[in-house]
Amino acid sequence: MTSREPVGPIARPGDAIGILGGGQLGRMLAMAAAEMGLDVHIFTPEHDSPASRVAAKTWVAKFDDQAALKEFAASIVAATIEFENVPVAATDLIESAGKPVRPNGRTLGRAQDRLAEKTFFRDIGIEPAPFERVDGPDDIAPALEKLGGDGVLKSRFSGYDGKGQVRLKGNVPKTAWADVGAGPSILEAWIAHECEISVVAARTASGEFVGFDPPENDHSGGILRRSTFPASAPKPVLDEAMRMTRKLADALDYVGVLALELFLTRDGRLLANEFAPRVHNSGHWTQDACRTGQFEQHIRAVCGWPLGDPARWADGEMINLLGEDAYDWERHLVGGAKLHLYGKRAAADGRKMGHVVKLKPRT
Ligand code: ATP
Ligand code: MG
Repeated sequence: MTSREPVGPIARPGDAIGILGGGQLGRMLAMAAAEMGLDVHIFTPEHDSPASRVAAKTWVAKFDDQAALKEFAASIVAATIEFENVPVAATDLIESAGKPVRPNGRTLGRAQDRLAEKTFFRDIGIEPAPFERVDGPDDIAPALEKLGGDGVLKSRFSGYDGKGQVRLKGNVPKTAWADVGAGPSILEAWIAHECEISVVAARTASGEFVGFDPPENDHSGGILRRSTFPASAPKPVLDEAMRMTRKLADALDYVGVLALELFLTRDGRLLANEFAPRVHNSGHWTQDACRTGQFEQHIRAVCGWPLGDPARWADGEMINLLGEDAYDWERHLVGGAKLHLYGKRAAADGRKMGHVVKLKPRT
């Protein structure tokens, strides 16, 4: 497919690129960009953010502060995002100032609304978990019945780490609608899966596509705890997962790194859960176990540079350090484990504070 994005380098060493969002993904992207001679400017509403402390410059302002966005846009050659809920109006404003935003607002819009996302999956021939639209509390029970009585109600907008979700089994508790924020939602069939895998891959404006070996992901309470690489699923399944991801990236005319989260069902089918238009927690190990990590790969794609070699030279696992787990950081400084901490000041319950990557020789 022909790209609507400019092809070729749009940033050179010495240039500044912008990142919308100031969390740990922005921090790791900024460090990768620095290794390639680029400056990073962060735009975030958060004071003292993890990314701002490794960046050349930071704008602390709300995403609807047009004057600040214009100033930010004038200071950079191109921008990217580090969390998918950046308002599309903000990326549009940067684009209209003549600075490409990768991935673009059209893609972000699709990822921000679970209904649009899953409808898009269907439209391009990627099978999502069965779902029904829920616009009010009275829609829940009929939708649950249609889906076989076992499901999960998810708010369409602004969910992350399992927030805004309620598991429904058989009956609908009175609080369900309020628990997802009493707003537009979807009900998804509960998938009794063999395992969860994800594909983290990069695509350039010229259509070059490169994927990392898919990891297997363990969640509990809706939060990723551990990614094991490579996934234990058979090769044809992993190849199919890669084909699905390429189809998605091509259909979006995507530029940058994206992740597709998939369920492998007990009868061997792959169903799409969701996609993330950004670097992904389940890809954090790539910077320690692959020739090119996901953060460098994303910066290369954003800048219009050729992609790097994603070859993996080790097996292993990535373990998230959540909340107070991070206070035990010293115990991970042993035996070749690689510790990454995000510099967050306070360890709230379930908050992603860092991760550890443990490697062993490739089998
Ligand atoms: P994140 O943005 O952190 O990936 P999220 O809030 O968007 O999370 P989901 O990816 O929708 O949430 O769900 C989080 C986890 O909950 C999934 O990875 C999976 O383990 C479980 N889960 C969600 N939906 C289903 C489902 N339909 N069937 C079985 N498990 C599910
Ligand atoms: Mg998810």
